[in-house]
Amino acid sequence: MRTPYYQYDLGILENTLKSIKESTAQHIDWHVHYAIKANANPLLLKLIKEYGLGIDCVSGGEINVAMENGFPASSIVFAGVGKADWEIDLALKSDIACFNVESEAELDVIAERCAALGKTAHIAFRVNPDVDAHTHANITTGKAENKFGIEIPMLLPIIRKALDNPCFAFEGLHFHIGSQILDMEPFHLLCQKVNALQDLMEKEGIKLNSINVGGGLGVDYVNPELNPVPDFKQYFSIFENNLKLRKGQQLHFELGRAVVAQCGQLITKVLYVKQGTVKKFAIVDAGFTELIRPALYGAHHKIVNMTSDGPVQKYDVVGPICESSDVFGKDEMLSEVRRGDLIALMSAGAYGEAMSSQYNCRPLPPSVEK
Ligand SMILES: *Cc1c(COP(=O)(O)O)cnc(C)c1O
Repeated sequence: MRTPYYQYDLGILENTLKSIKESTAQHIDWHVHYAIKANANPLLLKLIKEYGLGIDCVSGGEINVAMENGFPASSIVFAGVGKADWEIDLALKSDIACFNVESEAELDVIAERCAALGKTAHIAFRVNPDVDAHTHANITTGKAENKFGIEIPMLLPIIRKALDNPCFAFEGLHFHIGSQILDMEPFHLLCQKVNALQDLMEKEGIKLNSINVGGGLGVDYVNPELNPVPDFKQYFSIFENNLKLRKGQQLHFELGRAVVAQCGQLITKVLYVKQGTVKKFAIVDAGFTELIRPALYGAHHKIVNMTSDGPVQKYDVVGPICESSDVFGKDEMLSEVRRGDLIALMSAGAYGEAMSSQYNCRPLPPSVEK
C-alpha cells in the first residue's frame, strides 16, 4: 500500500452507531443526521446509512454525494452561511427535508428561487444563541461575533416574513454551537436558551414543528484506545432531561466528529530520522496535506510507532510540506524510530481525509478498510 493512507476500522464505527441507536431508540421523534463534512468516504457512508442516520450538508456537493450514496433527500438538512444559487436550486429540485437558513438575505434568495422553480422550501432558522462552547476559537460557532446564524433580537421579524410567504413551510429553529465539546455545560446552556426561545415563540403564537440542536460532541484524542466510543448516553440525556419539547415536536441532532473520528487512522512512513543540535526529527511522508487539524487548530493526534518496539526516545514528528506549521507533534515519546517504520496518527476519521488537499502537487491519500 502506498503511504500515506487512511485506514478505517469499521468495527469501531459500527460500535459507535450501535451506541447512538441504543441511546436514542426510545424516542421516535428524535432524528440523528450525520454531518457529512466530517468524512464523505463511501466505506463509512454505507454503514452510516444502514444504521438509519440522515445527513447534514453544508454544500451542494455534499447533497450530491449524500444522494449518490443512497441517502434519501427526505433525510437531508442543509446549513451554511453562503449557499450559492445553484446549491439552493439543487436542494429545491431534490426536495430535501429542510434548509437551515442563516440570514434574511438568504431567505429572500430562497424565495426567489422557489418562485422561479415553482417549489416550496421547508425551512428552519439557524439561531446564534450566544453560547460559549469553550472549545478552540476556530471551531466555536455560537457566539455573537461568529458569522453563523441569526441573532436572537433579529429573529422574530424574519420568522414573520417567512410565515407571510406561501413558498415557505416553516419548520422551526436550528442551533449549532461549536465542535469538539467535551464539557456538557455548553449543551446544558443551549437547552436553557432553546427553552426560553420556545416560551417566547409560544407567546407570539408561532408554532415550531422541530428543534435542531446541531452537533459538536467531542472525542477523546488523548486516549483513543480507552474511549473509542463517545459517551452518547450522557450527551443525549442532557437534552432528554433539560429540553422542554412541545407535544409532537421533533428533535434533530447533527453529529459529525463523534460518529467517525475514532474509526480512522492516518498511516504514514518514516522517511528520515534527522538529528539536530537540540532536537531529533522523525520526518514522515504525511503532511498537513493529508491531516491539517494540527496546523489549522493546534490539534494533537496521538502518535504511535507501529513497527518498532525499541527504547523510547523523544522526537518532533514532522511532515515534508514546505511550511513550518507542518508538524504533527513536538517532543513525542516514541519507540525508537528508524527509516521505513510505519507511524499511526490516531483518531483521524473526522476532518482528516475530508480536508486533505493537493498543496505541493501531492496526490490525495487512498483509503483502506482495516
Ligand atoms: C460541522 C457541523 C456539524 C457537525 O459538527 P461536529 O462537531 O462534527 O459534530 C453539525 N451541524 C452543522 C451546521 C455543522 O456545520
